[in-house]
Amino acid sequence: MQKGKINVQTENIFPIIKKFLYSDHEIFLREIVSNAVDATQKLKTLSSLGKFKDELGDLTIQIILDKKAKTLTIKDRGIGMTAEEIDKYINEIAFSSAEEFVKKFKTKSEAEANAIIGHFGLGFYSSFMVSEKVEILTKTYKKGGATKAMKWECDGSPEYTVTEIDKEDRGTEIILHIDEESKEFLEEYRILNLLKKYSKFLPVPIQFGTEKVSEKIEGEKDKDGHDKYKEIEKPRIINNTSPLWKKKPTDCTDEDYNSFYHELYPMTFEDPLFHIHLNVDYPFNLTGILYFPKVKKNLEVQKDKIQLFSNQVFVTDSVEGIVPEFLTLLHGVIDSPDIPLNVSRSYLQSDSNVKKISNYIMRKVADKLEELFKKDREAFEKKWDDIKVFIQYGMISEPKFYDRAEKFSLLKNMEDKYFMFDEYKEHVSATQKDKENKLVYLYTNNKESQHAFIEAAKSRGYDVLVMDGVLDNHFINSLEQKLTDPSFKRVDSDSIDKLIQKEEALPSKLDETQKETLKKVIEKNIDTKTFTLSFENMSESDMPFLITQNEFMRRMKDMQQLGGGSAMFMGDMPDHFNLVANANNPVFSQLFEEKEEEKQDAIVKQLYDLARLSQNLLKGEALTNFIKRSVENIK
Ligand code: ADP
Repeated sequence: MQKGKINVQTENIFPIIKKFLYSDHEIFLREIVSNAVDATQKLKTLSSLGKFKDELGDLTIQIILDKKAKTLTIKDRGIGMTAEEIDKYINEIAFSSAEEFVKKFKTKSEAEANAIIGHFGLGFYSSFMVSEKVEILTKTYKKGGATKAMKWECDGSPEYTVTEIDKEDRGTEIILHIDEESKEFLEEYRILNLLKKYSKFLPVPIQFGTEKVSEKIEGEKDKDGHDKYKEIEKPRIINNTSPLWKKKPTDCTDEDYNSFYHELYPMTFEDPLFHIHLNVDYPFNLTGILYFPKVKKNLEVQKDKIQLFSNQVFVTDSVEGIVPEFLTLLHGVIDSPDIPLNVSRSYLQSDSNVKKISNYIMRKVADKLEELFKKDREAFEKKWDDIKVFIQYGMISEPKFYDRAEKFSLLKNMEDKYFMFDEYKEHVSATQKDKENKLVYLYTNNKESQHAFIEAAKSRGYDVLVMDGVLDNHFINSLEQKLTDPSFKRVDSDSIDKLIQKEEALPSKLDETQKETLKKVIEKNIDTKTFTLSFENMSESDMPFLITQNEFMRRMKDMQQLGGGSAMFMGDMPDHFNLVANANNPVFSQLFEEKEEEKQDAIVKQLYDLARLSQNLLKGEALTNFIKRSVENIK
């Protein structure tokens, strides 16, 4: 037996490992299982190169939980280690880097220590976060010389022992004696969940206990002619060793992609809209599948569903900093050994590989969308309402993506027709220019409540865009900046003839003195704090009163609600509306002729209430009074 003292001069590193190595103690299982997978993969490689000539046999990695003995064992049939290798890989390398880690750690904050931790080969030592003692039983695949099976043992003090043992089978067994504080890792469900989380797609089969399944008994039927089944106990293999993203895109069907989606997200029932299979090995290595899901109203719940893997080992489902922000709305997996693990976010964002990867993913997404658009525009249009939020998000936040997306981004009008930006300009250029030759795009964000305004616009032969998406407000702002030519005006932000002012103004049926008189009568009966009264010469058949809300003021208010906006508008901005009286509607001549004050007031009140009612602004007591009055009038 060989005894050794861990080569750390200053102090015992174990308390530090326990406390700070990873804030998440559960990571130990990922590290130990990954080592077992690596050892197995190495042996497979040696075998395929002809350097290992024996049978590989069953390479399944076993996870064995012994609650009574308080041990968790991870057992592989990989390359194993010689005594010399234990010394080199476990004692020296790990401990010297541990020492370096301790040194660095002392001068840094915990967060910074976490950021540098990935550079130290401390994976195996993470087992001491949960164990009071760890044993390694290992036998190398090599033959002859000093290739006896060995046992390494360490109880969390700076001393370890190495002894020769009898071990028949090649490979390594790591036995963790779980400590009192970490008892949770002796629970079967805890280990099962951890394995499912981190090891679901590892390339070597991993068995954890057994499970009961029912199996058809061949050739046997019951008396009704149905198949007969029996319950059998089978090894419980927890992983899918060849996940879809590792396959060649040409070998995968749409069905494969859909069922893999549901494998990744068992709680999501809807199929994704479409997918992108990523596959590149230069200048970095990256595979993966991204899905466009059906978007829900609440964008936040949609976010952070992409799972990041490194060589099929699950790392995290927070890919912030690795893919552009707007693509965190997508679902799927990304697998790249070139993304540094266990490093801080800020480090990730400055990593040049990560930047390249981010750009690559963005380009691929743009390529795919453009391809879909070009191949079948009709089908693309059908999906537009569901995917527009991704595209708009990208166009707003990533100038590079905007430039690409101009080639497939669409605008939809009230007739459910879709236009590319240029096409739309063409469509409305002849009709929607004002007297200064400025192009105006009219839009609605609520077809129901703005119905009257939309009808008014249509009656002038104008087109109305539907902009009712979650991001449309923002999108309009960035479109105006990019397209420069048109300005967007919501249909209810002014009377239609003001929205697009043409040369020929209609003559007025009322003269200025008449207007002055009427103004007094009207203002007496309305809430002048909320409504500003003005007269306009519309057509006789247009409504007597129109309630509008100035486009600029409304946008400021929208921005304020979103938490943006300038400091000038801090404090709650009250709603303010324009009450536009149509001077040409005959009701105002009638009102002018009416000499009885009581009757005048009654007419104004009724018209004012009707206008508010049409905009859903008549509420509470005012609404009750209106209804009472209307009923009285019928009597
Ligand atoms: P890393 O895996 O990052 O190299 P570890 O501390 O996890 O660092 O492991 C150190 C080394 O110990 C490995 O590189 C490998 O050579 C050896 N090792 C660990 N586990 C096994 C195993 N199950 N079989 C064979 N060798 C192993």
